[in-house]
Amino acid sequence: MKMDKKIIIANWKMNPNSLKEAKTIFNDIKVVASKLQSIQTVICPPFLYLNELTKSYKGHRIKFGAQNIFWEEKGSYTGEISPIMLKNLKTEYVIIGHSERRSLGETDSDINKKIKIALKNDLKVVLCIGEKERDEEGVYLEFLENQIKNALNRVPKESLGKILIAYEPIWAIGAESKETATPLDVYEIVILVRKILSKIYNREVASKIQVLYGGSVNFKNAKELVESGNVEGLLVGRESLNPEKFNKLLKAVSE
Ligand code: PEP
Repeated sequence: MKMDKKIIIANWKMNPNSLKEAKTIFNDIKVVASKLQSIQTVICPPFLYLNELTKSYKGHRIKFGAQNIFWEEKGSYTGEISPIMLKNLKTEYVIIGHSERRSLGETDSDINKKIKIALKNDLKVVLCIGEKERDEEGVYLEFLENQIKNALNRVPKESLGKILIAYEPIWAIGAESKETATPLDVYEIVILVRKILSKIYNREVASKIQVLYGGSVNFKNAKELVESGNVEGLLVGRESLNPEKFNKLLKAVSE
């Protein structure tokens, strides 16, 4: 679906090391993000900083997200964070199934439970999918299909409006990545994602879901990835911790 606003999600991961630095980065981003009408900026800091950042922000242009969630609402789950706690902190989005969490052992079944509890609590879900590598035979396409099917197992079509799918090929993520996906790579996967959703649900649902791209996005490649990749937005890691560069990225996409 063509949205008026492009959504740019900042995934700060396990950074920065202090609340003071988090506030500085946020305040610098705020100056630009709060002026751009055509961009929905979503900041996903570590849990620890969500409270302070959401409390300090009185505007409406920036939204907040978490980088993970637990699949129960409360109870004896040491170290976990519940969807209700997030809701109470004015958190609207949650990233689920990031490849870095999957590599720590998160399974498709965990991801499916997390999506269901997030939706129950009215959080918007950013579901991450992505292959480790590509192969000539196209096995990776099947892999992506399974990731989507398993994550959305028994998720009713009425909830799909609250789900965004972020295509993040693992080979293109992070400082170690040697390649960036081309806009054509992204374009093809957006079509594939919609085809898969048509099969699981129907064409109408498939056309409405917002598909994003993530993996080594920077202020130089962002606009082309959005336009030629035909995505509704971007998930940005490293570049989102550098306000100067991130602000350039926001402006580039908004033009
Ligand atoms: C990510 O891990 O979600 C990501 C997109 O990272 P980077 O932009 O650093 O590749």
